[in-house]
Amino acid sequence: MPIKCKVQTWTFKMYSRKMVKKLKHIIVGWWKHIFQPMPIWAKKRLEKCDNCIYQDNILGQKICSKCGCVCRVKVLVEEEICYDGRWDDIKINEYDK
Ligand code: SF4
Repeated sequence: MPIKCKVQTWTFKMYSRKMVKKLKHIIVGWWKHIFQPMPIWAKKRLEKCDNCIYQDNILGQKICSKCGCVCRVKVLVEEEICYDGRWDDIKINEYDK
């Protein structure tokens, strides 16, 4: 297999893994948003988003312009991170799960 083809395959695999992970987070986030009350750590995250310069309001939805996610859904996924590091001081273990 030529090197270029190997690199393309590797890049595709990495991209696919990222896409699958992101899709999983979207499904989990919407599931929690619809069926579960918002935990305290998620409320703290959402407060940060509400005071963030990267938050846009598009058709009534608060969207993070850094990642394109719906903020009130993104904050509910424990594994999600803020790409601007604004959630770094919020430790989920300190609050209820
Ligand atoms: S996820 Fe981070 S960068 Fe995006 S709106 Fe929230 S605080 Fe701002």
